[in-house]
Amino acid sequence: MKKVTIIGAGMVGATTAYSIIAKDTAETVALLDINEKLVQAQVMDLQHSVPFFGSTQVKVGTYEDCRDSQIAIICAGSAQKPGQNRLDLIQQNSTIIHDIISKIFEQNNDIILIIVTNPVDVLTYMAVKMFPEKKKHIMGTGTILDSARFRHLLGEKLNINPRSIHAYIVGEHGNSELPFWSTAMTGSMSINECRILSETEKEDLFYAAKNAAYTIIEGKQATYYAIGAGTAHLVNAILKNKRVILPVSHLMEGEFGFQDVCLSIPAVIGSEGIAGHVCIQFSEKELLQLRQSAETLKQVAKEISF
Ligand code: NAD
Repeated sequence: MKKVTIIGAGMVGATTAYSIIAKDTAETVALLDINEKLVQAQVMDLQHSVPFFGSTQVKVGTYEDCRDSQIAIICAGSAQKPGQNRLDLIQQNSTIIHDIISKIFEQNNDIILIIVTNPVDVLTYMAVKMFPEKKKHIMGTGTILDSARFRHLLGEKLNINPRSIHAYIVGEHGNSELPFWSTAMTGSMSINECRILSETEKEDLFYAAKNAAYTIIEGKQATYYAIGAGTAHLVNAILKNKRVILPVSHLMEGEFGFQDVCLSIPAVIGSEGIAGHVCIQFSEKELLQLRQSAETLKQVAKEISF
């Protein structure tokens, strides 16, 4: 049975559940939250969507649901308020997530853990530190959302379907992230080498992708549709062993000289979690920026004790 347990039934958790239901990816989705009234209501509403999509069983869960789940997704905790950046959430969310991670692995040692809660890279690192032997089973959604925003904007600019654009934002899911222009492609064309965008256009486009969350939060307090869809895509890749390449946050073990930090670079995703990497060639400038991003994350990780 394909089963997913989602911890945190707020905007992101419920939208992730909805996206999994819409994709008809899992047979069962269990949702849990400390706010019992909220989780009951979310589950009822989600159940009523199922007849339009497929046959997913949706239930109010407990940690025991992790026992026969292949994947646990953490969406619990505080979200950014207008004016806050993701790293501002570290103190509150690290305490909440530490407890949740222990409860999940207590139930199922083989489960694959996806962390969505921010700051996602530092919390993913915390999970890997708690369970180092599970490092291939632990990932954060990282820059999958930023990369989707990037592809959307590039698609609009070039008038090409974003699904035919392969371009990544890498590093921190946050202010120190960077665009991986040197491998951005549409079809067989390198966007960089063919010089179809001016340097100013490229800067503007990256700026818009990087700061999209701030604009959305200003207007409607939270972002959830795109991260819900992205997390469901990740779930589908794991449950169906899709071997897709996604820039998830995961432990660096010497890649490009990075050690002991979680950040996003493209990785192969399959039923075993992080299944490997393809050859990645950063330009010198990109590598320098990536190093700065890694340094930022290492500094923030020092603030949490576990
Ligand atoms: P929300 O406030 O709507 O939902 C959070 C839920 O967590 C609440 O329902 C709350 O009751 C629950 N919760 C708190 N402590 C809990 C615990 N110990 N056990 C179970 N449930 C608990 O917030 P949201 O908008 O859904 O955002 C959730 C998280 O996702 C935030 O940290 C936000 O920054 C993050 N987020 C990440 C991305 C990304 O790309 N990684 C994108 C958007 C949001």
